[in-house]
Amino acid sequence: MADNKRDYYEVMGVPKGASDDEIKKAFRKLAKQYHPDLNPGNKEAEAKFKEVNEAYEVLSDKDKRARYDQFGHAGVDPSYGAGAAGGSPFGQGMNIDIDDIFNSFFGGFGGTGSRRQNPNAPRKGSNIETTIMISFEEAAKGCKKTVTYTNESVCNDCGGSGAAKGTSPKVCPSCHGTGQVMVNQRTPFGNIRTSRTCDVCKGKGRTVDTPCPTCHGSGRKRTKRTVDVTIPAGINGEILQVSGHGNAGINNGPYGDLHVRVEVRPHPIFERKGDDVWCELPITFTQAALGAEVTVPTLDGKVSYSLREGTQPNDVFKLKGRGITHIGGKTRGDQYVRVVLEVPKHLSPKQKELLKQLDGITTDKNYGNRNGFFDKLKTMFGE
Ligand SMILES: [Zn+2]
Ligand SMILES: [Zn+2]
Repeated sequence: MADNKRDYYEVMGVPKGASDDEIKKAFRKLAKQYHPDLNPGNKEAEAKFKEVNEAYEVLSDKDKRARYDQFGHAGVDPSYGAGAAGGSPFGQGMNIDIDDIFNSFFGGFGGTGSRRQNPNAPRKGSNIETTIMISFEEAAKGCKKTVTYTNESVCNDCGGSGAAKGTSPKVCPSCHGTGQVMVNQRTPFGNIRTSRTCDVCKGKGRTVDTPCPTCHGSGRKRTKRTVDVTIPAGINGEILQVSGHGNAGINNGPYGDLHVRVEVRPHPIFERKGDDVWCELPITFTQAALGAEVTVPTLDGKVSYSLREGTQPNDVFKLKGRGITHIGGKTRGDQYVRVVLEVPKHLSPKQKELLKQLDGITTDKNYGNRNGFFDKLKTMFGE
């Protein structure tokens, strides 16, 4: 923000002690004098108009005016001056949006943007968004997908003009091609001439006598299309931008973009945490006790793993480099496997007998945690 801001009273041409009425009167006069619609293309008037609005915004507000009187510009604009990095003592919310003020004073007459826009200038088309679903594996390793979408493209039959073959659009007689018409508008500050979007051509500046039968004069048509998209490995809910596949531009402007939101279906076994893959592996009591060669599902297919003797429930082991490819990179995360111990049910009398036999010959040595637990119990109850 410039440090050479003019004093607001000076901008308004009023003395420092001016009454509210005097300030309002001065504003009405200056606003009319510099209004952009009354000074088309005059950058200096536009800048003056903004300056006047900014000054009025502060001087017409009792609180802001008091702060301004005491602290100057820094009192009402936290970004003012070199030392403002730490913010003003008044916190936030003091930034002045000139366009807002402009609109609040002069009412909506088509928005500040459209007033200055040449309706015949080429404009980029709007973006469109579509969503595709891919599998967990596809996200992990990357894939190619054909994306189907519908966009608004230029009508081939009329080349986008909207006029039937053999005819051409003509300059709108109402606005003479500007897309805007001047109107007298009543405001709290008196009558003022402002512009608004032309009703006849809807701001396009051109009209069509015989509309193109294919597009009914719009110059555009909705078309179903496909595009092949390379989905990078490691993707996780990101949006891919496919340039030039959005809606057709206005006045031969470039096409907008297609945004493809990539959603990943959940996997029945795998869960993603960052670039790591987690899964659970059910094992039997015997496998846990004796150790075993187990088969573990991974993104690369089944791999075998030597479970160590005495594996405990919820033990986690790691398969290095079996995770998901870092997006935009080559290295991969890891896979973590949590062991879930399944206790056998519906045992036959013989099975029960064998387990009892086993229990009869196991000793304290076999159950480290259990011994510790009962030792603590004894201490607790003073046994
Ligand atoms: Zn018009
Ligand atoms: Zn057409």
